[in-house]
Amino acid sequence: MTYDLHMHSCLSPCGDNDMTVNNIVNMAALKGLDVIALTDHNSSKNCPALMKVAREAGIRAIPGMEINTSEEIHAVCLFPTLEKAMAFDDYVFSTLPPVKNRPEIYGDQILVNENDELQGTVDTLLITASGVSLEELPDLVKAYDGLWWPAHIDRSSNSLIAILGSIPEDIDYPCFEIYHTGLYDELVKKNPLLAGRPWLHNSDAHYLWDIAEPDRQLDPRIEKMLEGFGE
Ligand SMILES: [Zn+2]
Ligand SMILES: [Zn+2]
Repeated sequence: MTYDLHMHSCLSPCGDNDMTVNNIVNMAALKGLDVIALTDHNSSKNCPALMKVAREAGIRAIPGMEINTSEEIHAVCLFPTLEKAMAFDDYVFSTLPPVKNRPEIYGDQILVNENDELQGTVDTLLITASGVSLEELPDLVKAYDGLWWPAHIDRSSNSLIAILGSIPEDIDYPCFEIYHTGLYDELVKKNPLLAGRPWLHNSDAHYLWDIAEPDRQLDPRIEKMLEGFGE
């Protein structure tokens, strides 16, 4: 199963305004990806539109979010249904600090419908730390029947390892995400706790041309974890 399970739409301030739901789905279809997920920073609010477009295009799509924990650790959270994703979105949104977005500095936070028509903008800045701690996250995501993993753990910013210095032993993460796959061996050598665990690489696309090529198969163990997710 080819996949790209971490990407940003025009709702993320750092996401290109051309990352509309139709452009994302059409690009994924053009590339021949089997499954995609939309994971904007601290928000799932463009997922309803994306799910509609993906359904029309016959591509499996999973609603999600890249949460920024209170420690500023990025984690990808996926949900079986739109209803669960939007309920999680409501909760996470309620924990965001009341900081207003400044589009001229951070970028636009655009909501679209299934025709890529502007539905409004989100005023609260979505890239701040949410009120959800890493410790809380596994149980919280589980309460919404979701799956989560620490995002791009090899990156030098906003990653589990960059923030905490190492992988904590007491945190239950079902799999993990690597950005630079060439660093896998080095990463596991430095962090033996990662050995043998299922992992995946996603594009973390903020621009259309960054969406993944269908050159990677999802680990069957992760495929199983995602059974019944999306449509
Ligand atoms: Zn991230
Ligand atoms: Zn991301």
